Amino acid sequence: MPLTDADLGKILVEQSYVSEEELKSATELGAQRSVPLKTILSDMGLITEELFESALAEYYKLPFADLQQSQPTPALVELLPEEVARTFSCVVLKQDENGVTVATSDPSNAQLEEAVRLNLGKEKAILPSQPQPGGKPGTAQPPTQKFMGRVQLVYAPRKAIEGFFVHYRKPLATRFQAIITRQRKVAPEIIVEIFNDAIELRASDIHFEPQEQYVLVRFRVDGVMHEAGRIPREYYEGVVNRIKIEGNMQIDEHFAAQDGAIRYRTPQGNPMDIRVSIVPIVDGEKIVCRLLSEYVRTLTLADLGFNDTYREVLEKAAHKPFGMILTTGPTGSGKSTTLYALMKIRNKPDVNISTIEDPVEYKVPGINHIQVNADTGLTFSTGLRALVRQDPNIILVGEIRDGETASIAVNAALTGHLLFSTLHANDAGTAVPRLLDMGVEPFLLASTLEVVIGQRLVRRICPQCRFSYSVPYAEALKLFAGAEHYVQKGETLRLYRGKGCDACNDTGYKGRMGIYELMNITPEIEQLIIKRATSTDLNRQAQKQGMRFMFDDGFDKVRGGVTTIEELLRVAAPPDLIFTNDKQDD
Ligand SMILES: [Zn+2]
Repeated sequence: MPLTDADLGKILVEQSYVSEEELKSATELGAQRSVPLKTILSDMGLITEELFESALAEYYKLPFADLQQSQPTPALVELLPEEVARTFSCVVLKQDENGVTVATSDPSNAQLEEAVRLNLGKEKAILPSQPQPGGKPGTAQPPTQKFMGRVQLVYAPRKAIEGFFVHYRKPLATRFQAIITRQRKVAPEIIVEIFNDAIELRASDIHFEPQEQYVLVRFRVDGVMHEAGRIPREYYEGVVNRIKIEGNMQIDEHFAAQDGAIRYRTPQGNPMDIRVSIVPIVDGEKIVCRLLSEYVRTLTLADLGFNDTYREVLEKAAHKPFGMILTTGPTGSGKSTTLYALMKIRNKPDVNISTIEDPVEYKVPGINHIQVNADTGLTFSTGLRALVRQDPNIILVGEIRDGETASIAVNAALTGHLLFSTLHANDAGTAVPRLLDMGVEPFLLASTLEVVIGQRLVRRICPQCRFSYSVPYAEALKLFAGAEHYVQKGETLRLYRGKGCDACNDTGYKGRMGIYELMNITPEIEQLIIKRATSTDLNRQAQKQGMRFMFDDGFDKVRGGVTTIEELLRVAAPPDLIFTNDKQDD
C-alpha cells in the first residue's frame, strides 16, 4: 500500500529533512496545483529524489539497496511470479542457503513476507488469503509448501525495482515468432517490441546487424553490447523500409549511408528522440539507432546538477539563432560534458551542428565532428574557419586557447551562428578579461556573449551509507568565513556525510556532480565589458543582478545531502573570498 502524502510529510519532518513550515507551504502549493507532495518538494528544491528515497529507507529502518550496483539476475527475478512482484513491488536480490534478500519499495505491506513465502520458486502466483468478513478464512496453503527460510527485506525505489520486470518478458525470438505467425503488420510490430525492450533495459543504442542467415539485434546497455534477438532475414527488408519511412529517409537508397530521426512514444507515453544511421555493409544494410531519452545519463542538464532556474536560462540561450555560450573552469571540471548537454537540446534533424574538438569525446549521430590534427595542420583556428564556410547553425569549439581562435569564434557568433565553447578560466567573471587579453575587441565580445558558465565537480555522498548530523548555530558559523550569510540566525544546520561502505570503497563518496554559476550578459555587464572592467567588477555587478555563485549552488547541494561541506570547501571558496583572492588568482 503506497504511503499517503500525509504519511510522507510526517516522515520527512520527523527525520528533519524538511521543517514544519516548509511542509506546510509545500502542502498548500500541492493542493492548489493538485500535484503530489513529492513533486512540489523537489520543485521547491527542498529534497532530491535520492534523498527522498533514503529518507524512506531510514523510516522503514531498512538498508537502502542500490539496484544499479547490485543487479538481480533474471533467475533471481523469476523466483517470484510476475503478479506477486508487481502487486508488492518487490524483487529477489540474493539467495543463499539460509534464505533470500528481497528488495521492496513497499515494506509497510503486512502481507509482503507471507506472499514471498508462499510464492518463492513458484510459477503461478498464490496471493495471501484475505480475511473474509463474517466467513471462513480462504483456503490456506499447507504449511509444507511455504518457504520457511530467512526473508530479509531491504528498501529500493519503485522505479528501480520495476526496471527489472523486463525479465518477465518472453525472449524477443518467441515474440517475433508469434508476430510472424499472426502475419499481420510484421515489421512494425517487430520494431515496437525491439524499441520497447531497449527502453525498458535502458539501452543507449540498438544495432541491427545483417548476417548471412539472420539479422542480429544487439543492445548497448551501460556501454556494453548484448545480443537481444535475431530477426529472420526474409522479414528484414520490411523492418529496414519501415525504419526509413519513420526516419524520413530514402527507401530506394541501398548503397549510401543515411541519417534520420524518429520521434517515438514510449509505452509510458513519453516522447523519445531516436537518431538513426543506416550504413550499407556486405550482407545488407546495417542500422544503428541511438535513443536520446532522458535516461541517457551524462547528457542532460538536470543530471549534471543544473537547477531549474539555471536550466531555464540555458534553454533560452541555446535557442538563440546566434551568440556565444561559454563554460569555464580548470581541467577536469566537466566543461565538455556541459557543452554536450547544451548541444543535445538542439540536436534535431533540421539543425545543422558541427564540432571541432581535441579529442572528440562523444560521437553523436547527426552531428559532424572534426578532430584537431596538428600533423596535418588542422588546428582549432583553421578547422573553425573551414567550418564557418559550411554554414552550420551551431558550432561547438572544444576550447578557445589562443587569440586567433577567439577572434574567429566571436566573428562566427556575430554572423548568424550559435557558438558553444570552453575556456580555461577560474570562474565566469574571469572569462571576459581572459578573452580581452587574447585580443578580442571589447565591443564585439559584449555584443556576442550570451551566458558564461563557471563550474567545478564535487564528489557525491554515497547514497548507501549516507547519514545526517546536526551542527549547532555557533559551530556552523565556524565552518567557513562568511558562514553567517548562509545560515539563518539560530538555525541548527543539518549536514550529511558517508560512513564508508563496500559500495563506495569506504570513501563515503560515489560519483560526481557539478556546481555552477551563470553570468547572464545583461546590458549593464555589456557596458562593463566595453570598459574592460576587472573580473571583480563584473562579479559585483552580476551579484547585484542576482547571480548566485558556484559556492552558493554548492551550498544548496550540501544542504540537500548531495555532497559534504568539506568537499565543497575543497573545490570552491565563498564569494567574498573570491573577491579578496582575486589578485592572487590572476
Ligand atoms: Zn558508501
